[in-house]
Amino acid sequence: QAKKGGRNTYRFYTESLTEVANQRVAMEVALRQGLERGEFLLHYQPLIDMSSMRPVGVEALLRWQRPGAGLVPPGQFIPLAEETGLILPLGEFVLGAACSQMKRWLEAGADIETVAVNLSAHQFHQADIAQRVAAILEETGLPPGYLELEITESALMDFGEEAETRLRALKDLGLRLAIDDFGTGYSSLAYLKRFPIDKIKVDQSFVRDIPHDTADMEIVATVVAMAKNLNLQVLAEGVETEAQLAYLRHLKCDAAQGYLFSRPVPPLEFPPLWNAVLGFGVV
Ligand code: C2E
Ligand code: MG
Ligand code: MG
Ligand code: MG
Repeated sequence: QAKKGGRNTYRFYTESLTEVANQRVAMEVALRQGLERGEFLLHYQPLIDMSSMRPVGVEALLRWQRPGAGLVPPGQFIPLAEETGLILPLGEFVLGAACSQMKRWLEAGADIETVAVNLSAHQFHQADIAQRVAAILEETGLPPGYLELEITESALMDFGEEAETRLRALKDLGLRLAIDDFGTGYSSLAYLKRFPIDKIKVDQSFVRDIPHDTADMEIVATVVAMAKNLNLQVLAEGVETEAQLAYLRHLKCDAAQGYLFSRPVPPLEFPPLWNAVLGFGVV
């Protein structure tokens, strides 16, 4: 009896492992085809300046319109795209699409300063990343000062000393650099003064429980103060409530992003937000 059960368990286990492997392969094929077939698109979320309460920029966020599966969020395919290297062509698509969208918005009279694009570790580790970004700026005609690249702390730390050279090459193009998900990586703070960084984006995990978690509130207050002392811009991610907004304004945090202002929206829905002065809790 036990033996039989054991054998069944074993068989079940191998079958499910095979199934997981098959799903991965199917997903990889679908990603590759999706890229060829133009199934990827960008949504845009406003970045709000806290003193004027106006959107001063947008972050481009990748979505996959996968047939039969609806709109797939990046958390469900970016990790596999990273593992398989597909993130490289995907990332180039994102840069090109975001830069040309921004260029069109500027031509239409948009009063925004920044389009922020997430750069994956894999992309950042390419030796010729600066040349690639330069080529995309050239092709799309977007002046470099409008582009901000977001890089996570872990992408920098995995890379040791060379990170600095790579960041400088990007910075020399005339664009801006932001550290994404600040506070979540294993890192030394020393890099903040060495690297040519313009902005830190405080991770949403520190914002989520304001005003209930006093430790998180202390952390955010300290990060905002540190950013100011180092002459870095600071943005708080994941702002969902007016209480969070009020605390961040009290700290004189420069900028914020979150569902309180707007979810990421398709490009056509963005223009009405340009000139809106966002009051507390609007949108
Ligand atoms: P991220 O760069 O930190 O982007 C912010 C994420 O927080 C977005 O999720 C956004 O929709 C979400 N968010 C914004 N406001 C709020 C809020 O008030 N509450 C909550 N709970 N969430 C909020 P999304 O679009 O699902 O993207 C997730 C992550 O996927 C991004 O985190 C980024 O790391 C990655 N990602 C997205 N697009 C790209 C891309 O084009 N390239 C690369 N390499 N990674 C990307
Ligand atoms: Mg980001
Ligand atoms: Mg982020
Ligand atoms: Mg984040």
